[in-house]
Amino acid sequence: MTKEAPFSSAARARDLAEMSRNGVELLVVGGGITGVGVAREAALRGLSVALVERADFAAGTSSRSSKLIHGGVRYLQQGDVALVVEAAEERRILRRIAPHLTQPRPMMVPAYGVGTHTKLNVGLWTYEKLAKVPPAERHEMLDREGTLAREPGLRREGLTGAAVYPENLTDDARLVLATARSARRAGALLANYAEVTKIDAADGGSTVTVVDRESGAPSSIRARVIVNAAGPWCDSVRSLEGAIPGKRLHLTKGIHFAVLHADLPLSSMVVMQARDRRSVFAIPRDRIVYVGTTDTDYGAAVEYPEVTRDDVEYLLEAVRRHFPAATWGLERVVSAWAGLRPLIHEEGKKPSEISRRDELTEGPYGMISVAGGKLTTFRRTAEKVVELVEHRLGRRAEPASGGSEQPLDGGDLPMGSSPQEYARFLVSRFGANLPGLEDAVDRLVLLYGTNAEALLGRAIDRGLGFFPGSVALRAEVERAVLEEMSLRLTDVLERRLRLLLFDPERGLDVAAPVAEQMASLLGWSEERMMRELDEYRETAKRCMPI
Ligand code: FAD
Repeated sequence: MTKEAPFSSAARARDLAEMSRNGVELLVVGGGITGVGVAREAALRGLSVALVERADFAAGTSSRSSKLIHGGVRYLQQGDVALVVEAAEERRILRRIAPHLTQPRPMMVPAYGVGTHTKLNVGLWTYEKLAKVPPAERHEMLDREGTLAREPGLRREGLTGAAVYPENLTDDARLVLATARSARRAGALLANYAEVTKIDAADGGSTVTVVDRESGAPSSIRARVIVNAAGPWCDSVRSLEGAIPGKRLHLTKGIHFAVLHADLPLSSMVVMQARDRRSVFAIPRDRIVYVGTTDTDYGAAVEYPEVTRDDVEYLLEAVRRHFPAATWGLERVVSAWAGLRPLIHEEGKKPSEISRRDELTEGPYGMISVAGGKLTTFRRTAEKVVELVEHRLGRRAEPASGGSEQPLDGGDLPMGSSPQEYARFLVSRFGANLPGLEDAVDRLVLLYGTNAEALLGRAIDRGLGFFPGSVALRAEVERAVLEEMSLRLTDVLERRLRLLLFDPERGLDVAAPVAEQMASLLGWSEERMMRELDEYRETAKRCMPI
């Protein structure tokens, strides 16, 4: 393998130079799920497209979500039937094109009090009719005994039963990365750590100034159309074109905290009711269970919104009400994160009442801004945006065969096999040469899909096995640098290996050897390596309640 593989850290500077040299039909600003989805869709339709991301891919909201590809049951409560249908359809497609990133898990909604059981049954029945849910995936109603057999820790007083239905667990940052790598494969040029700082009108389009945050060097890119997919920073990118006409963003903050599975031993994802009757989730994943989310107004966007003790207490109260044995407090929290929802302001509405729909606006020089939207519906958002871009370019390209329903990177599981079957195949093929694989394989399949096979081959051939006492492989670090454009220690530990949020040690136990490995791959000085370590420790501190 050469260091110049597409999407390697080394290829980034080359791609940035190419964008600047040749110009593009479409420049996308922002490498969250919205931006990478648009880049992939445009490239699949044969447009020349580039994407620049100020920080790392998925460094914004797209790594701080609840990590669910959900069928939109809750939009029924908001009365948005069209969004229900759209979310359900997209969930079906994503399960086909990215089965590793849409793993079905049971979601339980406990029923307390007379009448709730029936109401739940009718509500879900209506949802399933509208969303055309196939019979095998419809909900099941449990009586009280059946409910307690599955989740014995639930509060018993008033419990009348529960509804259980399949929802899909994803990994948000890995979904972004898989989409970004697919966009690159389809011909898009992408660069992280490249910030748009200025937009000027030019003949037949715009000239955009981009600063390479690694070297500090500015460059300019000519683009016929710009799509602003800067999420919570959407309005600040809009302001680069001048005054912001029309609708504005309304940011709301959502937090999650995680505890060890032993402290909240669930086998299903469980929906709980908070004191203000909002639904919050408890979601088991690997060795932890995370709980979220809140929905509170937030001011200007920052990179790491804080998680306050009040935020955690609000969720803890819901946990304690549903699981009386959870008498522990904040001291058991092993990690926490906050994300900002880029919603469109609606006068007089409370945060949780504002629509989760995407919305497109056009600026004075023609920049198309897209905000709102979900991880779940990113493909649909991308289609709408690219259709508008094509309209503006005065062309209509046929998507490449299969279009955006082609498998995402890592999503091409062998015909008809499930991620679990694929995991068993990996253990049978590599387990004898890689002790510990059996316990780690589910995590690897969720993160890498079919790329796990090459990853494990690399681990064995090059002696890049597990870090002592960790679920992570040294081969993952090499892959993150050579094939996933990681430039910083945080990129690797937070968004590629996902140790920051999902490992009880928050990746601090392996940070030093990972930094050493990156130093040798990227040619860092001792001083740079120490700086990276300090920055990572700071980031890990930020992922705890204050
Ligand atoms: P972002 O991911 O924030 O990406 C915008 C990017 O633009 C950032 O990376 C930023 O660095 C970059 N940028 C900003 N300025 C510039 C510039 N000048 N130059 C270059 N780049 C720039 N959806 C689901 O489907 N399922 C869920 O379970 C779910 N849970 C959620 C839970 C919470 C708490 C929150 C907050 C949201 C949740 N969502 C969920 C919604 C979903 O996560 C977001 O709608 C989505 O991630 C937004 O993606 P985005 O690409 O628009 O924004």
